[in-house]
Amino acid sequence: MYHLFEPRLVNDAFGDPGLYVEFRDERRALMFDLGDITALPPRKLMRLSHVFVTHTHMDHFAGFDHLLRVVLGRKAAISLFGGPGFVASVEHKLRAYTWNVVHRYEIDLTLDVCEIGTDGEALRARFWSRSAFAREALAPIDLVDDVLHDETTFRLRGRFVDHDVPCLAFAIEEKAHLKVDKERLAALGLGTGAWLRELKHAVLTGAADSMPIELAWRDANGMHAATRPVAELRDVILDVVPGRRVGYVTDLRYTEANVQALTGLLAGVDLLFIESVFLDCDRAQGARKNHLTARQAGLIARRLGAKAVVPFHFSPRYDGRAAELAAEMQAAWSGSELQPADS
Ligand SMILES: [Zn+2]
Ligand SMILES: [Zn+2]
Repeated sequence: MYHLFEPRLVNDAFGDPGLYVEFRDERRALMFDLGDITALPPRKLMRLSHVFVTHTHMDHFAGFDHLLRVVLGRKAAISLFGGPGFVASVEHKLRAYTWNVVHRYEIDLTLDVCEIGTDGEALRARFWSRSAFAREALAPIDLVDDVLHDETTFRLRGRFVDHDVPCLAFAIEEKAHLKVDKERLAALGLGTGAWLRELKHAVLTGAADSMPIELAWRDANGMHAATRPVAELRDVILDVVPGRRVGYVTDLRYTEANVQALTGLLAGVDLLFIESVFLDCDRAQGARKNHLTARQAGLIARRLGAKAVVPFHFSPRYDGRAAELAAEMQAAWSGSELQPADS
């Protein structure tokens, strides 16, 4: 199945949390959390267009400096998103350095920072290398339906969960798209060409069934041309591919309010990355530290109806016991726990 993007954890399950989401046909990627990101080579960091930070505990934000160092003077812009206080967090990071020569760099860097409020309003600020990263206010925006960012092919939604501090959970949603069935196309005696883009555009913009599409293509016998109505082509050669939804959920308490918040964001999610910090026998510790146990993560995944789940953010105390954490999450998610543990 064709997917627009491919998500991958930056580190192993014991390392700092972070998800790198690479777009298939573009030199472009999104990033979720900025902890230790040194496992990503500079060419991968150079592809980042948008970075989403769940909260600013060090294991989720200490890598900001590394990212800045790699892209400075080489990349023109990055957009960053975070929760309450995020603009100040970025500003303080930037203020920690001396910028007397940065205006001479060949490529200026613009950091657009969006601070999501728990009230649904987003404050925005810009930091530009040319002006030594002085803070510039941008107009705030009201978020609708948890949408933080929207493009033609995908959208990004975020919601707060409680981790003692507000912490963002994210949904990366590929939009439904049209796919050409090459076999059925060939069976009609037609060849591929730029007209396919025109056809897709006509279908996506709701053109009349009878609208003529001018087909042109080249093969071993030379150029060919034909005219067919939109509806005939659409019904035979185009398939609607539903978009895939990916969730990134880390650093939260196991509370009903958190589960409810996640249900609104991620019900039926195709692929869920979710923290599984402690074993359930240590759930008192989990509660004290505002983290999920592997079993709790599995129960949440089950309530969401997640189709695939990747646990991560394992506590280093379980070094060498990753399989136990994964198995505990898996058992709760699949409902195969032998006996319901008392919780
Ligand atoms: Zn963390
Ligand atoms: Zn945290």
